[in-house]
Amino acid sequence: MGQGRVTAVGADAYRVSMSPSLASSYTAETVALLRARVAVSVGLFVLWVAIASGFEYASYPDRAWPMLVVCLFELVACSVAVGLILLDHWLIAPVVVATVLGITLGVAGNVYSGWVGEDAERLVMAQGLFLSALAIALPWDWRPQVWVSTMTCLTYWLATPYLRPGPLAYPTLALLTAAVGSVAGAWYVDRYRRDAFHSEALHREDREVAQALLHVGEELAHVRDQDATLARLNELAVETLQCDWSHTYIWDPARRRHRLAACAGVPPEVRSEIEQLAFPLERQSRVREIIDEVVEIPDVAAQRFVPCGLMLRCGAASSLVSRIVRGEEVIGVLAHGYRERTGPFSQKQRRLAAGLAHAAAIALENVRLIADLKTASTFKSEFVATLSHELRTPLNVVLGFADMLADGAFGELTRAQQGALGRVRMGAREVLDMVEETLDLGRIDAGRESVTRTPVDLDGLFREVDREFESLVPDGVALRWHNAVGRRAVVGDRVKLKTILKNLVGNALKFTDSGTVEVTAHAPGRKLRLAVKDTGIGIAESDLPVIFEMFRQVDGSEKRGTGGVGLGLHIVQRLVVVLGGEIAVKSAPGEGSTFTITLPLAEQSTGT
Ligand code: ADP
Repeated sequence: MGQGRVTAVGADAYRVSMSPSLASSYTAETVALLRARVAVSVGLFVLWVAIASGFEYASYPDRAWPMLVVCLFELVACSVAVGLILLDHWLIAPVVVATVLGITLGVAGNVYSGWVGEDAERLVMAQGLFLSALAIALPWDWRPQVWVSTMTCLTYWLATPYLRPGPLAYPTLALLTAAVGSVAGAWYVDRYRRDAFHSEALHREDREVAQALLHVGEELAHVRDQDATLARLNELAVETLQCDWSHTYIWDPARRRHRLAACAGVPPEVRSEIEQLAFPLERQSRVREIIDEVVEIPDVAAQRFVPCGLMLRCGAASSLVSRIVRGEEVIGVLAHGYRERTGPFSQKQRRLAAGLAHAAAIALENVRLIADLKTASTFKSEFVATLSHELRTPLNVVLGFADMLADGAFGELTRAQQGALGRVRMGAREVLDMVEETLDLGRIDAGRESVTRTPVDLDGLFREVDREFESLVPDGVALRWHNAVGRRAVVGDRVKLKTILKNLVGNALKFTDSGTVEVTAHAPGRKLRLAVKDTGIGIAESDLPVIFEMFRQVDGSEKRGTGGVGLGLHIVQRLVVVLGGEIAVKSAPGEGSTFTITLPLAEQSTGT
């Protein structure tokens, strides 16, 4: 592709064949296994020879001398081979030692048989068993097995003139079949082991990659702004790829350049140099064209993809580059690498680099969505606050004139006019309450709700709220106030306390047709406890968890028609939290409800 020694690789390209590093791990594992198996096999062979010699001596006592010589020779060969194979620093490769031992034992069997004039069929049976056992017991491939089989067959052929006279065609054919079969067996066993090793390694790598990327995803889910997200991403990249540094470049559409947005593992002086870098538009289109999933630069000095001098100045000897894509658009580039190490990256690193780029794309998209949502929410809050504010002034004018009309400032009213005016006043008050609630909520949401603590005269507060509700108490309901705290002033936020009381008492009156609404104040310990108890319709237990949520009203409420938007209790709860207190409710349908708020009491001094 004309980019020097730069390779673009799909993350899964390696799955078809073993990578060189995996192949060398397989070889290492095979050698370790071979060393262990040779020791065990030699032990079994010696045991077998001892038993066979016993039988041989019992049947042919005249063969004692050749048997002794051959057995001793085999014993020496086995001991030397096991010694060489178990040495920590091999003089000869274990596979060569095992092959030579196999050949030696095969040849020894033929020599003994020729020496004693053995029956050809018995010899072939023993050699056939020997070759098959080797193919099964030793984890080597077909090549050593070919050597052992060939040498065994060859020396068998040389020994035939000395064997007991008889037909040779069948025994020879049987030995050749055993030899070829053992080679095929060795090949199959090795291929099966190799495939199992490869697929186990792939599964292990899949698990490790998935775990690493899951960790990256979890970590990035907690970060909310772009700079912090990318900085964390680069830290995680260094950790996961076990490399020296990691950079993120983000495409700036206004300047039509990629610029450094974050990095990790980079000394400050190098960082200030990289910050000056800006890849222009041609780079962007080149990045689009060239990068499949990951671009590998095994040696910065031997490529033309990125200016070599620049890379070396930035402390990069080798690098993995992946693009961050949103839909069809390349929105950035991730580069990770080593300061000094050159050479190819592992498959796992390439897959992780591709996964990190996907994680980056998702994290950046989340950051963008959150920012969009925040902007939309701010616009909405500002709009609602402005509208509510603008509504409040004309509503107060309506209420003011309605009050003056009711007081007879413009002349006496007939009963019908008074009734109509009462409805106008009630409606206007309801709308004003909603506007006030919306403004309260807006203030709490914007975090503008500060706590101003002053000494509060509870009797005075109760009288004030009672006056405001005078006209709203339904016939047949008694609104009672009981201050068990006494005349002692409690320190608290009077405005918030009043808002809380008004909401709770307003609800109690709204949902009570007959009986009482009772407000009580206690001060157990260093706490103020206010309870609003009514004998109204009550709330079912299943509805209790939702009544504090925004805009939630109990469906079965018979008073639904009397207004309210479902914000009152939500505001009460938020204010109680702002004051550091708690709210509890006890209620049963048909028996009434009791809302209790418990607030911490401050010292008798003013403050904010
Ligand atoms: P609303 O504006 O509807 O009063 P709130 O948030 O103040 O909104 O209350 C939510 C819902 O909780 C009410 O609609 C009502 O169904 C229920 N509720 C609140 N206070 C009482 C009460 N004292 N008795 C019965 N139901 C109540």
